[in-house]
Amino acid sequence: MIYSPQQYNISDEAQKPFIDAREIWNLIRNTKSDKILVREIIQKSLDKNRLNLQETAVLLNTTDQGLIEEIKQGAKELKNRIYGDRIVLFAPLYVGNLCINNCVYCGFRSTNTDQKRTTLTIEDLIREVVALQDTGQKRLILVYGEHPRYNAGFIAETVKAVYSVKSGPGEIRRVNINAAPLDVEGFKTVKESGIGTYQVFQETYHEETYKKVHLSGIKRDFNWRLTALDRAQEAGIDDVGIGALFGLYDWRFEVLGLVRHVNHFEAVYNVGPHTISFPRVKDSSNSDLSQEYMVSDEDFTRLVAILRLAVPYTGMILTAREPAAIRDEILSFGVSQIDGGTNIQIKGYTEHADGQDLNQEQFQINDNRSLNEIIDELISKGLIPSFCTSCYRAGRTGEHFMEFSVPGFIKRFCQPNALLTLAEYLEDYAPVETKEKGYQLISEKLSIYDDFNLKEKLVEKLEKVKNGERDLYF
Ligand code: SAM
Ligand code: SF4
Repeated sequence: MIYSPQQYNISDEAQKPFIDAREIWNLIRNTKSDKILVREIIQKSLDKNRLNLQETAVLLNTTDQGLIEEIKQGAKELKNRIYGDRIVLFAPLYVGNLCINNCVYCGFRSTNTDQKRTTLTIEDLIREVVALQDTGQKRLILVYGEHPRYNAGFIAETVKAVYSVKSGPGEIRRVNINAAPLDVEGFKTVKESGIGTYQVFQETYHEETYKKVHLSGIKRDFNWRLTALDRAQEAGIDDVGIGALFGLYDWRFEVLGLVRHVNHFEAVYNVGPHTISFPRVKDSSNSDLSQEYMVSDEDFTRLVAILRLAVPYTGMILTAREPAAIRDEILSFGVSQIDGGTNIQIKGYTEHADGQDLNQEQFQINDNRSLNEIIDELISKGLIPSFCTSCYRAGRTGEHFMEFSVPGFIKRFCQPNALLTLAEYLEDYAPVETKEKGYQLISEKLSIYDDFNLKEKLVEKLEKVKNGERDLYF
């Protein structure tokens, strides 16, 4: 079924079209870049201001290698000044690969008869969650194909099942969702199950291309998808994640599309989306997607740096689609969340721990490191792996925005909470060597605390974690 605008059930303001391909192309074609401008724009972002479309276009049109390096340095500086040294970890959990849509880039598309279709039963799901908890995971994103079976009631049921699992000291404290757009009623049902972020990626903001790569099914309706997160807002879900799938169309167009989507949120809801994702298309079973718009590593790292500067207060998510080397470089541009110990096969965490099979998964991942390997490497780099969920559970929504805008917020909340969740991990799941390194990192971080009061409280809580108390946070 293709929905008509009346069925969107959102305000007139939210429904005003906000993506204008001609406007975006005009900006790309006609915006000039020069040294003075680029430096001013980087400074504007470092002064904690979001960039407008024109300013973003200047950065996109910068081809001078020296200036591109300055843009990357700017992103690093922004990260160091504002976000500090925490990386939040999560894992994806695929619930089912039935799908009525025909997205040419995706292994789950309805016409791919080689894909083995499976939907986890609640018992299967619980087994997957136990396996994830037993490695130390605390935050999951549930992922679904688009199918009448995966309706709002089903999504809500799976979310509740995940929260109910307690294996040993384990628990999942935050369940995010990446699933097809719902109507307002559907979003309300899912909200009640206690989700964190609801992610819907537009894939491409270029409508003509959108039609070329979404051949049939509900997803073919560009506007139904573009207004998805407006309906989520209408239903009370204010924690939403946007994204574009890089490789479908010109990457500069998609960056401006994402920035335009952020502006739309700010204009209508007074707050931007919680997170931005920028997956690059990867191989999938039987896909014959044209290579025309594939994004090189060089352009990819550049576009992530530009996005960081363009929307300095938005959380950025980088997944195991990317190989470890790229992930390591991009982490320094202020990525806030990465997945670890990822397996995207259906039943991957219980039955297929040993490898990938494109006929049972959506696409190829390129970072197979275990959760502990990733944690160990982050610690070696002086970064704090964090499983913190405290904002969400203390009712402080929009944590990335608060980190960015409330002076001292990171020092008072984020960093201490990251250290507490790291200590829990070290106590419950880490091998001896990681545990030693981890506590070494914790004492280094403690040694530079200048707020004596806070430090005392944190040391007290860390002692309690060592003595078996769990889930302590500020
Ligand atoms: N089926 C829902 C939908 O399409 O919105 C849920 C999301 S889908 C399972 C998750 C995301 O994976 C898609 O939005 C798309 O951006 C991404 N994806 C699909 N095929 C991909 C591929 N070949 N490489 C990388 N990412 C891909
Ligand atoms: Fe289905 Fe989503 Fe894959 Fe499209 S991207 S075929 S909607 S699972």
